[in-house]
Amino acid sequence: MSGRLAGKVAIVTGSGSGIGKSIAIRLANEGASIVVDYRNHIEQAQDTKSKVEAAGSKAILVPADVSVLSDTQNLVDQAYKQLGRCDILVNNAGIEIEAPFWEVTEKDYDAVLNVNLKGAFFLAQAFVRRLRDAKLPGRIINISSVHEDMVFPNFSTYCASKGGMRMLMRDLAVELGPLGITVNNIAPGAIATPINAKMMDNKAQLDALLKNIPLGRMGTPEEVAGLALFLASDDGAYCTGSTFIIDGGLIRNYHEQ
Ligand code: NAP
Repeated sequence: MSGRLAGKVAIVTGSGSGIGKSIAIRLANEGASIVVDYRNHIEQAQDTKSKVEAAGSKAILVPADVSVLSDTQNLVDQAYKQLGRCDILVNNAGIEIEAPFWEVTEKDYDAVLNVNLKGAFFLAQAFVRRLRDAKLPGRIINISSVHEDMVFPNFSTYCASKGGMRMLMRDLAVELGPLGITVNNIAPGAIATPINAKMMDNKAQLDALLKNIPLGRMGTPEEVAGLALFLASDDGAYCTGSTFIIDGGLIRNYHEQ
């Protein structure tokens, strides 16, 4: 298999749907073998596997709830056991739960923080330990959000998780740089995926959102995948410690009425 990622192996968490699925397929198109992680929907993960294979690359399916430490360890172990190595980690799995701050429950707080932040933290740790022992380089790409920086009222848990991911990325970039491991975040704005299904079905809400986006449309998962490919490939070798925003200009928007 030729391509910009020929011979590489990538774990993509939550790669049964949305952004994770597109990233898995795009990396596979460039020759990477893919560990397809899923939590609930095996049929969606199987579809990703088929598309990776149609691109001429290998794929394995590994069920893992990233908020469970033993599952994250198993993801890395299966990459080495079944595919022989692991060069790229894409921490993509994420959830959001809407609630006014004063109504957030401990259960919802734990659910969001455990998937979005704790999961990325300990999966990165398992990924790095193997690379460190073998003295090999690697790439960590976190799918954070514009909300690692930008407010999102009624989504305080989501903002706390993505803000935490921003500082985790910066810290790890410095700590892991000497090991040859790069760490970057991709911060999407509004991307057309199942996570936004409710909002996309509500015309008034969608129109209000589109007015705030200078490019006047939502982004596609494929556009986010193109950025992930850049960061995973040789072209992105000198990038570390940064957040790459992909939002149609949303975060920079300002109007005087
Ligand atoms: P999505 O289609 O809902 O995908 C989320 C994926 O994460 C699903 O495949 C889901 O699998 C998986 N997942 C959730 N909890 C998991 C867990 N505990 N363990 C393993 N997998 C888990 O939404 P998406 O838009 O592609 O979101 C992907 C990432 O992009 C998220 O981190 C999200 O915060 C971020 N993001 C999205 C947008 C956007 O506008 N779409 C904007 C900024 C950031 P199951 O279905 O099996 O639960």
